[in-house]
Amino acid sequence: MTRVLHIVGAGMAGSEAAWQAASLGVPVVLHEMRPKVATFAHRTGSFAEMVCSNSFRSDDSERNAVGLLHWEMRAANGLVLESAERHRLPAGGALAVDRDPFAEYITERLRAHPLVTVSEEEVTELPTEGDWIIATGPLTSDSLGKSIQAATGADALAFFDAIAPIVYAESIDMSKAWRQSRYDKGETEEERTAYINCPMTREQYEAFIDAMLAAEKAEFHEGETAGYFDGCLPVEVMAERGRETLRFGPMKPVGLTNPHQPDVKPYAVVQLRRDNALGTLYNIVGFQTKMKYGAQTEVFRMIPGLENASFARLGGIHRNTFINSPTLLDHQMRLKSRPNIRFAGQITGVEGYVESTAMGLLAGRMAAAEILGRDIAPPPRDTATGALLAHITGDADAKTFQPMNVNFGLFPPIDAKGGRRGRKDRYLAYTTRAKESFASWLNSQG
Ligand code: FAD
Repeated sequence: MTRVLHIVGAGMAGSEAAWQAASLGVPVVLHEMRPKVATFAHRTGSFAEMVCSNSFRSDDSERNAVGLLHWEMRAANGLVLESAERHRLPAGGALAVDRDPFAEYITERLRAHPLVTVSEEEVTELPTEGDWIIATGPLTSDSLGKSIQAATGADALAFFDAIAPIVYAESIDMSKAWRQSRYDKGETEEERTAYINCPMTREQYEAFIDAMLAAEKAEFHEGETAGYFDGCLPVEVMAERGRETLRFGPMKPVGLTNPHQPDVKPYAVVQLRRDNALGTLYNIVGFQTKMKYGAQTEVFRMIPGLENASFARLGGIHRNTFINSPTLLDHQMRLKSRPNIRFAGQITGVEGYVESTAMGLLAGRMAAAEILGRDIAPPPRDTATGALLAHITGDADAKTFQPMNVNFGLFPPIDAKGGRRGRKDRYLAYTTRAKESFASWLNSQG
């Protein structure tokens, strides 16, 4: 009997996964609950609906990691990128699209495909048999969310993300900051220097609190706040509770000695913790925030040592269902405890239309290959797709795992001269290396 691949969710990831699998000759049943069951963000019954911005961000495949992901998906005959190209709107270097025809085109192509059947029903339980991809996104329906939680454990599924900003290590001014874990805790030198510390004087702290209180904040959507107070209070809400709250919380200056000024006790200290195995990214500990992006950059660059910080991603708190992929998934995106089920898209802990689509493309290809009896290796980790996969399935710290955008900090480093010119050249070197690797990975699949 022919094995059928079931895909739950016809969003960015599910639509791309269905296209890839069907294009490889595998019959697909695509389960989508809309329009029967609505979400607070979707407006239509179309597949691959863009729920907010109409942009796939930068289309520069030479010096931008998102643009590189576009390139890789085009090379792999991605349907989402094909539709984006057809419905492109003028937007400088960005790939912005006319959202309704973009989504309608994808819907029509999939519905017309002889190997794709659409089931317009909500899937309420994690299936026990058959080949499945779960691509139900940040707004996974409640019943399926609970079933995933029951199967994976309460700590393995989050219903909100509370993201602290992530900074490129190379952009931190180490003539002001220093490496040290509080009270020098740790068995190894690596553990004792796991944090980067940024000291503040009293005046700097007061100015910082003022700026945070005055900063423009994003509104919560209806039903979004329930639960977020459980231990991931936005940093500005902590500041609102009292000017000293942060100094006794994430900014406490105890157990740390500034080697640049050993005789001066800092009034407050901002700590950054390593965010990936490569040591190229650091998150600002405890700084999850609802400040608007522009305000965040201004406020966080007031931190001594971060004046010229480049942010791999800014902070946020959103309704977002995602699993703890580093503990739950193998490198083929399969649930380790139930290998007949793969996860794809934003629910795996990537963030954004482009990243979610890429994880759908990969899961679709991997599932199809397995059904056809020809397993494929994961894409090399020096490609954008491979770097994202490596991050969610192993490199990221499972304890602090939060959704991630694609960025060059996830790639194995390339040595190059520092400075602005140096950085641009390095990005070009990353993308050149990635394109070659991705092309050979595709070729290896025949
Ligand atoms: P989705 O595209 O959400 O697709 C999941 C699909 O699964 C949906 O069609 C849903 O109806 C369906 N589904 C859910 N549960 C079930 C079920 N039990 N049975 C059957 N079907 C089900 N990203 C950006 O890049 N730019 C933005 O501006 C942006 N704004 C956002 C605003 C909001 C309010 C939210 C919630 C998210 C936003 N995102 C944005 C993130 C964006 O939604 C995702 O990156 C992207 O859509 C994720 O793709 P996906 O395929 O994983 O999920």
